[in-house]
Amino acid sequence: MKKPKLKLYNTLTKKKEIFKPLKNKLVRFYACGPTVYDYPHIGNLRAYVAEDILRRTLELNGYKVKHVMNITDVGHLTSQADEGEDKVELAARKHKKTAWEIAEFFTKVFLDNLKTLNIKMPHIMPKATEHIKEMIELIKKLEKKGYTYRIDDGIYFDTSKLKDYGKLTGMNFKQLNRYLKAGARVPFNPQKRNITDFALWKFSPKDVKRQMEWPSPWGIGFPGWHIECSAMSMKYLGNTFDLHAGGEDHIPIHHTNEIAQSEAATGKPFVKYWFHVAFLLVNGKKMSKSLGNYYTLQDLLDKGYGWREIRYALMSAHYRQQLNFTLRGLESAKRSVERIIEFMRRLRDYSNGKKHKTFHKILTRYKYKFWKEINNDLNMPKALAVLFEFINKVNKLMDQKKISKGDAKKAIKLMLWFDQILGLKLDEILKEERKLPKEAEELIKLREEARKKKDYKTADKIREELRKKFGIILEDTKDGVRWKWEK
Ligand SMILES: [Zn+2]
Repeated sequence: MKKPKLKLYNTLTKKKEIFKPLKNKLVRFYACGPTVYDYPHIGNLRAYVAEDILRRTLELNGYKVKHVMNITDVGHLTSQADEGEDKVELAARKHKKTAWEIAEFFTKVFLDNLKTLNIKMPHIMPKATEHIKEMIELIKKLEKKGYTYRIDDGIYFDTSKLKDYGKLTGMNFKQLNRYLKAGARVPFNPQKRNITDFALWKFSPKDVKRQMEWPSPWGIGFPGWHIECSAMSMKYLGNTFDLHAGGEDHIPIHHTNEIAQSEAATGKPFVKYWFHVAFLLVNGKKMSKSLGNYYTLQDLLDKGYGWREIRYALMSAHYRQQLNFTLRGLESAKRSVERIIEFMRRLRDYSNGKKHKTFHKILTRYKYKFWKEINNDLNMPKALAVLFEFINKVNKLMDQKKISKGDAKKAIKLMLWFDQILGLKLDEILKEERKLPKEAEELIKLREEARKKKDYKTADKIREELRKKFGIILEDTKDGVRWKWEK
């Protein structure tokens, strides 16, 4: 079978491109991680699920992925314009805990959420507070090259000094400045030279004692959010790496500024492919606590939904399309997952039928179709449609007894291959304890009665029926009859 080519949409070039890593088969992949001050909501989790599908697709295509995801435990302010409070310090006051305790607690919550949704763990998860030294070094480099200036509350990056500033947005410098001005919720600091300029290092306020602060060549303070990602991604992946992911809301500010700092400091291109996941809406509206349409993972689990259903609902739309999340949609995800699981059980328990002469062709065809869709910029809706087409096809063949047990085993193998992308832990279905079907139970009883009456002919007939119909083998031992599944 010819392998389909992997194509990904690149925000930087605004095109779907054939994916080719910078170095052979290694993909150096950075994903912006959480700011650990609250429970992740399902909008956050959608992005992590989409990035998980991306990583699984890369691995399915034979790439070795080095996956780095940061933990932002300092420096993310309540306003995108470098104003307002540090989210972690604010949460600490609210919960009457230390900032360190808040960060530790919500980091654990985040990791638990990833585990629950069977999202593959990044290989390295650097914390911002443990990389202050690297951030200061990077700012020093930028200072030396003349990209920085000082105002009352910190050291800033002068975005007008970079020729292609804003290239990720498709807007030029002026347009981007206008765009940010129009969208601003708080007034910009008038000392800033340009609206697009951003803080590299913020000084601790004079009137409030911060819990998280560090000395620096410029004064006591803390790093800006953007410099964290530049410093940590380049530390673990090099000055230029393959793939950088995040939510689409990161494009105009966070990722634009990561590019600016990194490329200004190194003089080299920062990232080859940019991957952005679209927003999640709930009932057609932006999620917010005041609208009552705000869900965490635990909220949905508490409503009785299983992790597979939640994962399925989050991954079933195309990652570049807004996902309108509704409880009705979750119900339909639940039915889809049930159909997949029922199919796995049926394949596992299937025992009769004759060998299909061209079954291998059917398997290869569906494998290719699925792979082609997933490799086409991770087209999950279409890949899932292929999956269900396959399920329907094989179900029909089983209804008509047109495949053998061996064929069914091959179908299981393909399902587990699909599951490398789906991440639904379908192998667990195979390991579930199987219950004896009611009809089989009754047949065993009938056989016992026949044996008591020494009617061995009937007993043997029933034994054979159990084997043929259910794949159950009976053994008569001195402690009575025992049964097991035919291998
Ligand atoms: Zn980031």
